[in-house]
Amino acid sequence: MTGRTHDLAAFATLAAVFVASPLREMSIATAVTAVFANMVGGLIPDADQPGSDLYDKVRGGNMLDEVVTPLFGGHRHVSHSLVGLGVGSYLAWWLLGYLGKFLIIDRQVVFVAFSLGMWSHLVTDMLTREGVPLLFPWKKKFGIPPWRIMRLKTNSWIERLLVFPGLLTFTIWLLIKNKDKVELFLKEYLVF
Ligand SMILES: [Zn+2]
Repeated sequence: MTGRTHDLAAFATLAAVFVASPLREMSIATAVTAVFANMVGGLIPDADQPGSDLYDKVRGGNMLDEVVTPLFGGHRHVSHSLVGLGVGSYLAWWLLGYLGKFLIIDRQVVFVAFSLGMWSHLVTDMLTREGVPLLFPWKKKFGIPPWRIMRLKTNSWIERLLVFPGLLTFTIWLLIKNKDKVELFLKEYLVF
């Protein structure tokens, strides 16, 4: 999948979990950091890919690209597996604990938003022909549906004209359908 599909899938997942969960009071800083962390989580598994969108979005990204990319051992390896998710989650939890010394953010909320981004990345990549090595170091690639022929090609017209607009429509529909909850959250639960 392309970076923008991952980006949107991460946000759609966040929105779906938000509307399904009980409201929780949080600071504006937490909410903004959570949305940002969700985007990073949605793109980070492709940090193994030279020229990934993630590098375009962060300052000094091109330098980072040259250092980080070789560490992953090629595209869609460990970063697209349960081991990768575990390591990514551990690092994120640790980093948020460290940042907590300087920033007043709700570690749990930001962590969940980040993790949802990562999970959504793996699931959306499973819809593509290449599949993902979920059980790395076992090399077998897994996909949904299990038959490769029924899966999507990355950046194909189906992704651009059906998956992306479909996901966008779904997200907007979800937020409109739950607009009372969204409004209540913005008015009563979001604090300075
Ligand atoms: Zn990927």
